[in-house]
Amino acid sequence: MPILPGKTIGILGGGQLGRMFAIAARRMGYRVHAFDPTNDCPTGQVADHEVNAAYDDIRAAERFARDVDVVTFEFENVPAETLAAIERIRPVHPSPHVLDTCRHRLHEKDFLGGNGFPVADYRAVRNVDELSRAVDELGAPVILKSADYGYDGKGQVRIDRTENLDIAWSTMGRPLGVTEKVVPFDKEISVICARTSTGETSCFEPGENVHVRGILDTTSVPAAISTKTRAAAIDLAIAIAKSLQVVGLLAVEMFVVGDTLVVNELAPRPHNSGHFSFDACVTSQFEQQLRAVCGLPLGDPALLSPVAMANLLGDLWQISEPDWPRALAVDPRVKLHLYGKQQALLGRKMGHLTAIAQTSSEARKLVLRARESLA
Ligand code: ADP
Ligand code: MG
Repeated sequence: MPILPGKTIGILGGGQLGRMFAIAARRMGYRVHAFDPTNDCPTGQVADHEVNAAYDDIRAAERFARDVDVVTFEFENVPAETLAAIERIRPVHPSPHVLDTCRHRLHEKDFLGGNGFPVADYRAVRNVDELSRAVDELGAPVILKSADYGYDGKGQVRIDRTENLDIAWSTMGRPLGVTEKVVPFDKEISVICARTSTGETSCFEPGENVHVRGILDTTSVPAAISTKTRAAAIDLAIAIAKSLQVVGLLAVEMFVVGDTLVVNELAPRPHNSGHFSFDACVTSQFEQQLRAVCGLPLGDPALLSPVAMANLLGDLWQISEPDWPRALAVDPRVKLHLYGKQQALLGRKMGHLTAIAQTSSEARKLVLRARESLA
């Protein structure tokens, strides 16, 4: 039975992904309850109701679950016990099993590799000796990544030679790591795939991503890739979403190496590289998540115009508030999204800009010009 407009969606996590999800849900007449430890969180500001409690407060999570009709998430690190308690009361989509696979790099790589999906050669490492062996076996350069709690390049160390492994290990900072080969990629792309409980799937146009210091900087769509690579990327994302039995969204980050693809990582939720869809697609990734989670038919993800997105990090605020009118004066096709975060910390995602244009490279130039004019 679909969960119809008028019903209440519970979302775990109160960041920008939840905020944009809440905007899409409220537009379609749903009620939204947000669960986040921090008061006045980005999602809470646009939700009908905000619950502030720690993610391990099972009692609070159970009360939250009883007040909603279905639960989804935008934050991956909700403890398994909390998710299990919620799942006993209301459906959770995507399932906690999917979440557990995607938020743990080793589970994720074992799932991908074990099902024949292409991943960079990797080893699980529990200490410096195992790291040393992994570097020998794989051959430098490699990247050591924490198995859990990593995002925006945090918990990652590149190792070019075999020295300084003690420092690399302590910089990574977690008891379990994954050491993987550096992939000499030509470009990075991502595909966001939606899947319903009846097995219907639908993908957004692949985006081309540029990262700066491990953090997504820009996404340009369509990606400058061959028709064959585009089709292969979409097929790969659908195959992974099917294999995982995702109900909701699955973002698949990939490296393009010549005409082959290597999967980098998965996220079972809306993704920063899909923000373009809010301004440039018939259906946004947030509305698509809503439809999938509620059991409604998926919307058309078609791209209405080439587009580019540029993130706005807290760094931009260090001298003074960015000059918004000046950025918008660059071109009327420039759009501003701000997440309502009070503290502009270095590296913190505060908002983003998008611009549509005749081609994705023109759109990228435009959005970068707008961002430069902020300072
Ligand atoms: P996060 O969870 O922080 O996004 P990722 O594993 O996606 O972590 O790594 C962040 C970025 O670091 C990637 O988008 C890519 O630019 C670079 N990177 C990560 N792993 C590799 C690799 N094996 N080879 C080359 N570059 C990599
Ligand atoms: Mg990533």
